[in-house]
Amino acid sequence: MSEYDFDLFVIGAGSGGVRAARIAAGYGARVGICEDSRVGGTCVIRGCVPKKLMVYASHFADEIEDAAGYGWDIPSATFDWQRFIAAKDVEIDRLNAVYIDLLEASGVQLYLARGKFLDDHRILLTDKTGRNETISAETILIATGGRPWVPEVSGAEYAITSNEAFHLPALPQRIAVVGGGYIACEFAGIFNGMGSAVTQIYRGDALLRGFDHDVRRFVGAELQGKGITLMLESDVIRIEKGPDGLNLHFKEGKQVQVDTVMYATGRVPHVRNLGIKNTDVEVRADGSIVVDEYSKTSVGNIYAVGDVTHRINLTPVAINEGHAFADILFGGKPRPVNHEFVPSAVFSQPPIGTVGFSEEDARRHFGDVEIFRSEFRPMKHTLSGRNEYMLMKLIVASESQRVVGMHLVGMDAPEIVLGFAVAVKSGLTKEQFDCTIGIHPTAAEELVTMRTAVVESTQG
Ligand code: NDP
Repeated sequence: MSEYDFDLFVIGAGSGGVRAARIAAGYGARVGICEDSRVGGTCVIRGCVPKKLMVYASHFADEIEDAAGYGWDIPSATFDWQRFIAAKDVEIDRLNAVYIDLLEASGVQLYLARGKFLDDHRILLTDKTGRNETISAETILIATGGRPWVPEVSGAEYAITSNEAFHLPALPQRIAVVGGGYIACEFAGIFNGMGSAVTQIYRGDALLRGFDHDVRRFVGAELQGKGITLMLESDVIRIEKGPDGLNLHFKEGKQVQVDTVMYATGRVPHVRNLGIKNTDVEVRADGSIVVDEYSKTSVGNIYAVGDVTHRINLTPVAINEGHAFADILFGGKPRPVNHEFVPSAVFSQPPIGTVGFSEEDARRHFGDVEIFRSEFRPMKHTLSGRNEYMLMKLIVASESQRVVGMHLVGMDAPEIVLGFAVAVKSGLTKEQFDCTIGIHPTAAEELVTMRTAVVESTQG
């Protein structure tokens, strides 16, 4: 018998932690896990899942409008925020219970408590009532995720983050969303679809820094086309509460009045009060935990997966890292996680799907590249009359002819890109794409029929 209470103890029952705990237990390890919020973590409780339900809820506005072009008369449609939030909460409760059941069925011992390192092997657990208990484990996995970060702006206490956006008592009539990243673009679309007047405020000159420049240009135009007021190169310097709402003051002296302001200005690793200083685990200045390709920290028996390591902050990546960790340590299958060509989506409206290099990065990495680009009106909107377009872009490394980047904006883009990501990750060439016969009529068939390349050279 080991001298420890557990073979593995996991701090944080989100996507990465739960996966690691279940798989390790499946290999016969004695596993414990603690969670001080709700089992399921950011993705299930206050992230991807409720967000996607909100995207669906908000998209009905377009669907109802589009139906008219197809002969449907829908006399009056109104949206009931409270009814939707209640339905959404029932689903989140169901998923929370599923996650708890999964842990129990795997034989993992769950502690609804906050975990804090006392040393490399001991964790102090404090539950909601303040009751303390100390456990020990041979191996400890940190899977505490991240939390929203808001810059120090005067009046920031009036702002909400995505955490609160899921539980607002009413739909705001006027909302400002600060930020130009994933969460800001997604929530701007959600509130706009539900009927709020939305102003999205971003400090840069095009949304979604780091994405391909065509995607950034295209999405900005589409969001504005949907009725979102986009304020680029704008910085909120002060928020004041007035009798008629919140007044946002800008550097240039401009003011905007709203009922709610939501900051989506990034997330930071969740290491507060984790007692990390009681170990020798190396932490970067931004709080993220340094790990190797096997998710091992600078301390031999302590590992970390997911957003707290700030590698690629996406749920499926955390799940993969958690699974690989358990396979390596408890299943005898050494396999590092491959972080190359990870597809991702932004559930803006229209949504984005992307895998591989942006045009700019591809040019830096591969030298000459060939660009295949197409912008067209999806078939659905021929009758709906909606002025919404779709962008498809393929980036091919000239020398190898390998497809190294794929960027789509428009209906079903995330679904399409995930399918094609297998081909991109497998290193298929443009010729191999072209010898695949498309399905007609679909938007995706464009990806196997793009013929005219623009050759982009590193020499400019
Ligand atoms: P992002 O990093 O995507 O975006 C943060 C935004 O805030 C950027 O536009 C950034 O501007 C801006 N910003 C940062 N600091 C300031 C500041 N001081 N003042 C004004 N603006 C500022 O973070 P998110 O919060 O949107 O999302 C966090 C992460 O969660 C994502 O990166 C992603 O990994 C993950 N996520 C994934 C989703 C998905 O898969 N669909 C959905 C939601 C989140 P700048 O670009 O100029 O730095």
